[in-house]
Amino acid sequence: MRIDLHTHSTASDGTQSPAQVVAAAREAGLDVVALTDHDTTAGWAEAAQAAVELGVALVRGTEVSARAQGTSIHLLSYLQDPEHPALAEELGRVRDARVGRARQMVERIGRDLPVTWDDVLEQVGGDVVVGRPHIADALVARGLVVDRDEAFARLLHSDGRYHVPHYAPDGATAVRAIRAAGGVPVFAHPGADARGRIVPDAVFDELAAAGLAGVEVHHRDHSPRQVERLTAIARRLGLLVTGSSDYHGAGKVNRLGENLTDPAALAAIEEMGTTEVLRP
Ligand code: AMP
Ligand code: ZN
Ligand code: FE
Ligand code: FE
Repeated sequence: MRIDLHTHSTASDGTQSPAQVVAAAREAGLDVVALTDHDTTAGWAEAAQAAVELGVALVRGTEVSARAQGTSIHLLSYLQDPEHPALAEELGRVRDARVGRARQMVERIGRDLPVTWDDVLEQVGGDVVVGRPHIADALVARGLVVDRDEAFARLLHSDGRYHVPHYAPDGATAVRAIRAAGGVPVFAHPGADARGRIVPDAVFDELAAAGLAGVEVHHRDHSPRQVERLTAIARRLGLLVTGSSDYHGAGKVNRLGENLTDPAALAAIEEMGTTEVLRP
């Protein structure tokens, strides 16, 4: 069984539609794929239809933005009730905050470089969660950088002068909201120290006490040292271990299936979740 539990579509900052992500999952030989766009469930319906048509099993989820000790963290929520207000209202707040934040960042960059909010709007379709990758795409379209990677390295990284943070709930609050909505919370890439600040072990204890179910241990952005650390933390706290690609289509080098999750971990997630895993 090839199970990849973390992907993005054009509902957030991936470059393929939800149906295209499911089709790509099938081409990559995956048996199960999770669609986990940032702070939204807008891609679920299209992905579900494609999963049924193409015979791929689908885990519906969301990558929830949160914060712990002043550091931005991501929590994967699997199989939640998308209508439950505890989580849906929190996600709405984050999406709204993302728009103002992106506008502020573009305004700051626009003082030095020829880029405007209209350029960014050209990069985002209708019901899309705006993120820094869309600003990157506007900079690429303007010929100011060659790709998203260069945009992040030079202009968009979180320690840079153009960066503006956005509202996100506290990690424990987000974990409780995911659980209240019948979802299964898994800490996404918590050891990605080359991409920015990561949180200390104590945060895992705090999140576990709030109801965290698992840790995404196997991820491209984790060094062997971090994999070892996270494996030990998961064992100590009795948390599930997952592995995923964090696929963004052409937006990142991450390839579907490059990291996988054990069937036993998926079975445990399915057992705890409210929404069913769609199976062919
Ligand atoms: P935001 O959610 O607006 O804070 O933007 C962060 C998102 O940008 C993350 O979810 C990543 O998927 C993406 N990202 C971060 N660094 C890079 C990079 N170097 N190239 C492409 N995408 C990136
Ligand atoms: Zn992303
Ligand atoms: Fe993430
Ligand atoms: Fe992600």
